[in-house]
Amino acid sequence: MKPETIAIHLSNQVNDLNHPVIQPITLSTTFLHAEQSMIYSRMDNPNRRALETVMTALEKGVDAAAFASGNAAGMAIFQALPLGAHIIVPLDMYHGLQKQLREIVNDKINVTFVDMTDLEKLRAAITPETYLIWTESPSNPLIQISDLGKIAKLAKVHGIRLVCDNTFATPIFQNPLVIGADIVMHSTTKYIGGHSDVLGGILITNKKDGFWEKIRTIQAIGGAVPSAFDCYLLCRSIKTLAYRMKGHFSNAMSIASYLEKHPEIEKVYYPGLHSDAGHAIAKAQMAGFGGMLSFLIRGDADHADRFIGRLKLFSNATSLGGVESLIERRAAVEGPNSKSAPNLIRMSVGLEGIEDLLRDLDKALSLA
Ligand SMILES: *Cc1c(COP(=O)(O)O)cnc(C)c1O
Repeated sequence: MKPETIAIHLSNQVNDLNHPVIQPITLSTTFLHAEQSMIYSRMDNPNRRALETVMTALEKGVDAAAFASGNAAGMAIFQALPLGAHIIVPLDMYHGLQKQLREIVNDKINVTFVDMTDLEKLRAAITPETYLIWTESPSNPLIQISDLGKIAKLAKVHGIRLVCDNTFATPIFQNPLVIGADIVMHSTTKYIGGHSDVLGGILITNKKDGFWEKIRTIQAIGGAVPSAFDCYLLCRSIKTLAYRMKGHFSNAMSIASYLEKHPEIEKVYYPGLHSDAGHAIAKAQMAGFGGMLSFLIRGDADHADRFIGRLKLFSNATSLGGVESLIERRAAVEGPNSKSAPNLIRMSVGLEGIEDLLRDLDKALSLA
């Protein structure tokens, strides 16, 4: 089945004597002791089961585990690692997960940060103790592309597990398990939820091995699980995911092309542009380039902030993947230790009419 069909039908599992068309929200925390019944909602819940089922199918995996946030999903992987394991992660890794590595699990595992766009640097970082390689493509905030196929080959040769944070691409544009990754991670807070009103995370695996069983135990017993209502909202959103992604991609492509030609813009980072360093690889491994882009505006931080302040349709807020367009200056969000350039602006392109978005940008830039 096509993703559009999977998204609509596998997210909706009705098991109710009144036969509603839409799956009800099962708020019950406990279930009658009976054959084949669920036991307790921390272990399993009908709405969570539907979410895990549809995400397993969309990512072409064999099982999924949903969590209360993307960070909780990432933490489950780090907690499942054996004590003293070596892992390799990207320099341009989502900053919240970097913080987990630097401040929470730093005394239990060994971490090497590498530029994942440079295969030779990755190869050089591998040791006999390397247990896992983490990728994020496209990455945050520089929208960098890693060659997932080549990294997967390298990982296989060395018997290393490969994880891909697929939050920016979504299963509509990229299926890392098909390319050779072992586990896919999503912050479902972003495009999967799509309306900036639910927090969540999910892991999808290509095999139910011991590592996966440990992750399932961390989910059920660690207990960082999403509520039935959160799972319901995510299933409701997934039904339109494919169409939303096409709209995000189309709008982002138009804005990236517009910004690239504008004299006030120094550089645009968007894999859909022919000039982008990741274009060729992205074209080979993605079915669309997504709705996230970054750019450097000419001038200093104050100049960038004034530009953002003049925009009417782009809200100055963090996060991404919602129907509304968001914009932020990364260094201002990342704080004093930020590695981002002071004039780096990240944009989550929403689903507003493209003419309105372009007019808003044009007005704000003409006053720059
Ligand atoms: C937001 C995000 C996360 C963390 O997810 P939360 O739901 O905020 O905990 C992880 N990876 C990427 C790429 C993200 O954008």
